[in-house]
Amino acid sequence: MIARELGHAITLFVNPSQVISGNDYWFSRFDALVDGRTVRRCNFQGVAYQLDHKEELRTFRFAVRPQLLVATEAEAQWLLDEVEAVLGAGEAQTGEHARSLSRDEFDQLCEAGVRIGNHGWDHQCISALNAEQQRDSIIAAGDWLRSTSKQPVRDYAVPFGIERLHPDARPACSGTVYQVDSGLPPKAADPSSLFRLNLTPTLQET
Ligand SMILES: [Zn+2]
Repeated sequence: MIARELGHAITLFVNPSQVISGNDYWFSRFDALVDGRTVRRCNFQGVAYQLDHKEELRTFRFAVRPQLLVATEAEAQWLLDEVEAVLGAGEAQTGEHARSLSRDEFDQLCEAGVRIGNHGWDHQCISALNAEQQRDSIIAAGDWLRSTSKQPVRDYAVPFGIERLHPDARPACSGTVYQVDSGLPPKAADPSSLFRLNLTPTLQET
């Protein structure tokens, strides 16, 4: 909204699943659980972690994260229920800034002239999906976003931006496909794709 008030052109890539369910993204809930831990050590899937050691906390995060990345929404929440239990983080709350977009906020952003893009039905990494599932995710999200925003909605940003779409799924997106900048030259994205710049590392430094 601030960017719109300042006159910037904005495209927001949206997952209908989280707008409809109101559920937090797994990465937001996961961060909240880790931050809200009440134990100094834990045992997860047969491995012990000393969580007040920065390096081991990081190792714990990277033991869980790859499983969450490819999990379905339901599987991710089950896994996080387990994480919540081993971390004693039942009181953890997701920060307001990390909450999923509500339907009201979505409507307000559309009214403010924000252009809507397709981010797939939910945020599951597309490496977990076959060509047909990738296509279904793009089509279902596109249909919902078009009818809800009354906008054309053509472009698609791959969740996490790392994996490439299966060639058989590519026609489901009639616009541009956005990957995340991998440090490769722009031409390394295939002709119908573009790299988007990931600001996360810059933000984490500040
Ligand atoms: Zn995303």
